[in-house]
Amino acid sequence: MANAAPGRLHVVATPIGNLGDLSPRARETLAACALIAAEDTRHSAVLLRHFGITTPLVSLHEHNERARTPALIARIAAGDDVALVSDAGTPAISDPGEALVQAAAAAGIEIVAVPGPCAAVAALSVAGLPTAGFAFEGFLPARGSARRRRLGELVTERRTLVFYEAPHRLREMLEDSAATLGHERRAAVARELTKLHEQVERGELGGLAALAAHEPSLARGELVVVIEGAAAAATTDTAAADLDRALRVLLAELPLAQAARLAARLAGARDNEAYRRALALRAADGPSDDPVT
Ligand code: SAM
Repeated sequence: MANAAPGRLHVVATPIGNLGDLSPRARETLAACALIAAEDTRHSAVLLRHFGITTPLVSLHEHNERARTPALIARIAAGDDVALVSDAGTPAISDPGEALVQAAAAAGIEIVAVPGPCAAVAALSVAGLPTAGFAFEGFLPARGSARRRRLGELVTERRTLVFYEAPHRLREMLEDSAATLGHERRAAVARELTKLHEQVERGELGGLAALAAHEPSLARGELVVVIEGAAAAATTDTAAADLDRALRVLLAELPLAQAARLAARLAGARDNEAYRRALALRAADGPSDDPVT
């Protein structure tokens, strides 16, 4: 084995519910590899048994991925082809695998994508919201304050937002999203995709939050929440608010022209726009004996 050509790492997507979604190529790859690194070997064993695949499994989960990676890289370097799978969907997408793929890339190992199901992309594709640009956020923080802080950072994001969410947090996630991003923002909750109870609810965030409160079945099973991005006007409003905030602080300390110049730099605004706004704020705040230059 020592002189064998290096093997390859195959990143293999598996079904997110419907076994019919395992591609023929995924099946062949899993059968042909020397070893399959799986998030949960017992879980993947069920899938492999269903397809009559007997390739040995080794576990690779969030707690052992870093420790196991060097041995897997050594094995591939020695000539074995290894497949990476997670419990469902695409490995390394809110799932183990990122460290192994990074290490393989660093070691110059060939990494082959065997693409297939991914809940985020599946939900986005049926949400009925803009798809030209999207931001995948994975899971929001579980704690309310941290979750609201993260949502606050996303207020001006223009791209469609895609979140994974645990069923028991759906209602509070939708309520926090409505309060932070706006009750009228369009959104979709995609639940149990590809499974028997597949359901996609589309509406405004406020309405979906109310639905989650009154219809507990919406929060059963696996869920993706897709939220449309900020409207151009909202981002403009926020940019104006940033400029005003900077101007108010600086005008209290500095001459108007200097305050306007610095505020423009801080808020990413034009100098003449900041100057005009500074004059308006000064006028609205009443007379001052500060020099105007
Ligand atoms: N790597 C996976 C992928 O590519 O979809 C995602 C793994 S992440 C740990 C699991 C989350 O994906 C679930 O909590 C849920 O938010 C979402 N998810 C997985 N399967 C789903 C399905 N059938 N319908 C809706 N959401 C699903």
